[in-house]
Amino acid sequence: MGEFELIRHYFQRTGPHPPGVVLGVGDDCALLQPDPGQRLAVSTDMLVEGRHFFADVDPVALGHKALAVNLSDLAAMGARPLGFTLALALPRADATWLAGFSAGLFALADAAGCPLVGGDTTQGPLNLSITVFGQVPPGQELRRSGARAGDEVWVSGQLGDARLALEALLGEIELAPERLARARQRLERPTPRLALGLELRGLASAAADVSDGLCGDLGHILAASGVGADLEVGALLGSDAISADLRAQPRERALRCALAGGDDYELVFTAPAAAREALLQAARAAATPVSCLGRISAEPGLRWRNESGQPLDLALASFDHFA
Ligand code: ADP
Ligand code: MG
Repeated sequence: MGEFELIRHYFQRTGPHPPGVVLGVGDDCALLQPDPGQRLAVSTDMLVEGRHFFADVDPVALGHKALAVNLSDLAAMGARPLGFTLALALPRADATWLAGFSAGLFALADAAGCPLVGGDTTQGPLNLSITVFGQVPPGQELRRSGARAGDEVWVSGQLGDARLALEALLGEIELAPERLARARQRLERPTPRLALGLELRGLASAAADVSDGLCGDLGHILAASGVGADLEVGALLGSDAISADLRAQPRERALRCALAGGDDYELVFTAPAAAREALLQAARAAATPVSCLGRISAEPGLRWRNESGQPLDLALASFDHFA
């Protein structure tokens, strides 16, 4: 199968475009039309075999995840998806793999209202790079720099299960089959929190998605905002942000996975304490659970305290590819 046949067969779909897409796959450029007065939000994420996924991962799950991690960035900015491009390096044109990959990719694209509008295809070691385009009204974007002393720190969904699955798949820990199956879903099929991101417009003072671990990604918010945070381990471990499967693990492992695990694709965000009721209402509207973990303070740094109020020295760094 030639390059153009491959593109046409697996990545070019017929049918009408959504309003934001004037021209999709097939010309020299795609043409996107944001709604009047809205700004473009743009983000790129790359997935490399052996680094971000195992060579034998289910291609349907890989198609889902490649787009999900990019949509998660739009969610964290409070942006609504317009479309995405896909740059794909493939060792060979494997029909079964391509059919699975494109099925997973398009299932999420359709669910998120984010059509594939273009890309590039080349032969080479398996590598996927997606750029997402979204739109957000000026001033309503959720930047990392808006957290203020007194704001509360929130996180969506549940943290740490993706890391738990990874450690089990790497053979570092033992996990009962049904626990592994659930955790593996979180690792391989993350849910981008797009609805919550939209609901948080005008409510959250700052937001980021949790891709490299809560400590690291909250750390980015703190650094960008010039503030610190005081968080309680007990509040975290007792909250809905920890799954029953993670809570069943030894405390040290549960904490490590939840605080520094990565691959969660939840949102960590801050909001004024006075916005608490509106925020819980927004989370209900987005059908996404949220948990409050503590407060922003003027003093820079991220401080975790244990149940007896003692500072916790976790020496936890988030994931850094070059550390
Ligand atoms: P060019 O030579 O101008 O780079 P290509 O021949 O690479 O164009 O691509 C032809 C068309 O197919 C373009 O519209 C491009 O956006 C699209 N395309 C190429 N690869 C992909 C892909 N993996 N997914 C979606 N569209 C793609
Ligand atoms: Mg090209």
